[in-house]
Amino acid sequence: MQQLKERILRDGKCFEGGILKVDNFINHQMDPILMKSMAVEFVRRFASRDINKILTIEASGIAPAIMVGYLLELPVVFAKKKKPSTMENMLVTKVFSFTKNNTYDVCVCKDYLQPGDKVLFIDDFLANGNAAKGVMDLVRQSGAELAGMGFLIEKAFQHGGDYLRAQGIHVESLAVIESLEGCRITLKE
Ligand code: 5GP
Repeated sequence: MQQLKERILRDGKCFEGGILKVDNFINHQMDPILMKSMAVEFVRRFASRDINKILTIEASGIAPAIMVGYLLELPVVFAKKKKPSTMENMLVTKVFSFTKNNTYDVCVCKDYLQPGDKVLFIDDFLANGNAAKGVMDLVRQSGAELAGMGFLIEKAFQHGGDYLRAQGIHVESLAVIESLEGCRITLKE
């Protein structure tokens, strides 16, 4: 998506270890106009899919997910990164975060992810695909069906996308980074 690519080149900042910071428009300060345009693009790309629910993981996925849910008039569920003491009936999985170098629990209440649900997962980044694998596990545990996975930014050099596509999942990424080598942002055309 051209608008996002231009914004990444203008405002994205590259850090050691293949990390791209987009705090200026996605991860800290947010640009709602761009967020809406990105959601419109997801709706277009997943138009052929039967979807009744949007799923994301807190916190950075919530903004794009709610935009998509708003446009499609569908409920948006965000998986929580800490198991709340008041929530029973939880589905739980473990996710390794390479940006934070730790493993954390991701959970969702069974009431909000059920057999028969057709789920579109939306998140900000796809890197190694660990968060996405955790979501696949939650969806599998719930008996729901995964209709597709949409990412604002995919870092192709970490190959999470290769794995997901090899599983037959419909994956859409609005901007694909080929390399951050030498802290230079190279986007896929
Ligand atoms: P994965 O699980 O695919 O390895 O990584 C995806 C998660 O890690 C995303 O939800 C995102 O929060 C975080 N992440 C991965 N790479 C980056 C990055 O380059 N920049 C930022 N800001 N977050 C990232």
